[in-house]
Amino acid sequence: MNQNENMTSERWQKVLDISREKETPFQLILSDVIEEKYRELNESLPFAKIYYAMKANPAPDILRLLDRLGSNFDVASVYELRRLQELGISADRMSCGNTIKKFEHIKEFYAAGIRLFVTDSEGDLRNIAKAAPGSKIMVRLMAEGAQTADWPLSRKFGCSPDLAGDLLVLARKLGLQPWGLSFHVGSQQRDITAWDSALSKVNYLFTWLAENEDLKLSCINMGGGFPATYRERTNPVQTYAEEITRYLQEDYGDDMPEILIEPGRSLVADSGVLVSEIVLISRKSRTALERWIYQDCGRFGGLMETLGEAIHYPIYCERSGPGEDVILAGPSCDSMDTLYEDYRYELPLSLAVGDRLYWLSTGAYTSSYSAVEFNGFPPLETLVI
Ligand SMILES: *Cc1c(COP(=O)(O)O)cnc(C)c1O
Repeated sequence: MNQNENMTSERWQKVLDISREKETPFQLILSDVIEEKYRELNESLPFAKIYYAMKANPAPDILRLLDRLGSNFDVASVYELRRLQELGISADRMSCGNTIKKFEHIKEFYAAGIRLFVTDSEGDLRNIAKAAPGSKIMVRLMAEGAQTADWPLSRKFGCSPDLAGDLLVLARKLGLQPWGLSFHVGSQQRDITAWDSALSKVNYLFTWLAENEDLKLSCINMGGGFPATYRERTNPVQTYAEEITRYLQEDYGDDMPEILIEPGRSLVADSGVLVSEIVLISRKSRTALERWIYQDCGRFGGLMETLGEAIHYPIYCERSGPGEDVILAGPSCDSMDTLYEDYRYELPLSLAVGDRLYWLSTGAYTSSYSAVEFNGFPPLETLVI
């Protein structure tokens, strides 16, 4: 059962001991894994300031842990802001990275003390100038990399380099501080060269703005995209860091701007074990070859990133013996709640109703995505251990 690099036998034992007593489904978060991931990232990119993208998993115990480790936080909404405030985290350690925000909410961010905002449009920039005067502005560039990211962020965010330049010049005119450029190469980005492409656009703009507008930018925000351990291989985070450091040194030498990163997935995903129970096993005809395995956690219960069968979690059970391809589905009355039909998992034939499945690397984008009461099922419970 112990085949995952993050799951030492000691960790497995802990997971099994705590799980036995509890009714499924639920999510266990191994906080020592988060601590390990944080230190690893911090040591591999020592010059980068970490802003945790808390949408990945906003459990208060995780926020407290990252606070203790010295992390900063990227907030996307006033609700995230309020949660951090409740935990006593000060706003000078927060940025607002969401490019889509209400005017009233920008006012609240500003009143709380946030002075670092990301934007990608004129409308939002003008709102920031009014509601958060004098703040530092990062303009988000549209990044490529959708083909090689398992959870791409597509065209929803960012703007072209031309517009980014215009916005930074306008920011200065509006009394804001044109601070730098940001991008996100797509979540679970498996192609490290995606950072190279994004960074060359950034460098082009750094130079262009300095030469043509006498505008010197100070900061690059490289977003998230660093990998978690799913079924597909990725390079270790150290390799990402080495390559990215090399790109930056080629562009800036000793005159390195301030560097921010906003990891979500890579910090928390591997810490999570989602435990579910098999409710029903069936075949669709007398002669059907595949078995359908319905278990008590589905797409609405937190496994949302199975949408498009995009993310392939490592799944374990406590049985062994010969296996067979299965179709995995959730418990709700919606056919969209079929998790994997094209992408096949092989699970032991001896698997039976009542058995538990252990979904590894489910610490990110699960509990925060789970529905509040679809079919009456409660949202996914999180237990930080
Ligand atoms: C979601 C998000 C992140 C986190 O991305 P990961 O791929 O989970 O590390 C970072 N920055 C922004 C602006 C985001 O929206």
